[in-house]
Amino acid sequence: MLDLIIIGSGPAGLSAAIYGIRANLNLLVIEKDYEGTGQVALSSCVDNYLGLPGLDGYSMGEQFRQHAVDFGVEFLEAAVTGIEPVCHTENIATTSDNLVPDFFQVTTSDGHTLETKTIIYAAGATHRKLDVPGEARFDTKGVSYCATCDGAFYRNKTTAVIGGGDTALDDALYLSGICEKVYLVHRRDTFRAAEITIKKVMEKDNIELVLNSTLSEIVGEEKVSGIRINQKNADGSEEKNLAVSGVFIAAGSKPETGILEKISGLNLNDAGYVIADESCITSLPGFFVAGDVRTKTLRQVITAVADGAIAATAASHYIG
Ligand SMILES: Cc1cc2nc3c(=O)[nH]c(=O)nc-3n(C[C@H](O)[C@H](O)[C@H](O)COP(=O)(O)OP(=O)(O)OC[C@H]3O[C@@H](n4cnc5c(N)ncnc54)[C@H](O)[C@@H]3O)c2cc1C
Repeated sequence: MLDLIIIGSGPAGLSAAIYGIRANLNLLVIEKDYEGTGQVALSSCVDNYLGLPGLDGYSMGEQFRQHAVDFGVEFLEAAVTGIEPVCHTENIATTSDNLVPDFFQVTTSDGHTLETKTIIYAAGATHRKLDVPGEARFDTKGVSYCATCDGAFYRNKTTAVIGGGDTALDDALYLSGICEKVYLVHRRDTFRAAEITIKKVMEKDNIELVLNSTLSEIVGEEKVSGIRINQKNADGSEEKNLAVSGVFIAAGSKPETGILEKISGLNLNDAGYVIADESCITSLPGFFVAGDVRTKTLRQVITAVADGAIAATAASHYIG
């Protein structure tokens, strides 16, 4: 039986692996992509990781993975398809709320069934796309899903944020401190965000609201130069062009938690994120969570890496 299975080898999983192996845990990392390093590999430039400014995301992910390989971490390339907490009869509690598994059975797409005392689930999340023309073509060439990651590349330029929830308004506020001008494009005439955030947005001179409007196309040559929007008005609707250098799509994100939904005793929130705070401890004993897949306010490489360290330390203490 393994001490620990880590699911996902993004920044959170790899950091957990390094802390786990240094704590002498008998562990295995399971990752579905060939030598995958998670979302960070998609970033053309990670400029906000302490001590490593300007590194491209692919190289950063490679460095993280090599660190784990050099420390003797073992990897299995497969998708985890099922996780089952197993309880011996004497440990079965009367309600699922205080279920204490003796171990977990993990099944994979290549037919393995593995047993482990603890799990760190670090399967990440993906940004929702709008699937409009130009979105895929200009991904990382003016289209971004993360203002905190990429906002600094648009200093003194004009950008657009697409969305009307808390993330969109927070992104618009963040960008208003960097960009000359920010269009906030929203399909309704009211926002679904905290009142205080809406008030702050209204007070910003360089945020222009573009309401009742949907994004119909992102245009440019090598990079984004503008967007086309369809704006509803009293006479029907009209197409408008806005000149922008960057488009920040804030349509929400989706955690990779489909396989967790039926695990008794494990609490997810309405959006599907595993509920846990900075301790990375979940409602199910022995099951820890790290990185973008847990409830948190800032989904970044640096917070994922911190989670991995904390989760592995917590798993080590749990095993005793
Ligand atoms: C384009 C882009 C640019 C970004 N830029 C920055 C930036 O500049 N700065 C910054 O700090 N952050 C940036 N981020 C965010 C950052 O990459 C994430 O916050 C970070 O990667 C989260 O790490 P994670 O380990 O939690 O999850 P992920 O990186 O999502 O890794 C999860 C891993 O789990 C694997 N997995 C999922 N399900 C399974 C399964 N069932 N079985 C096995 N494996 C599975 C996936 O294949 C993946 O490798 C960016 C993200 C994107 C998409």
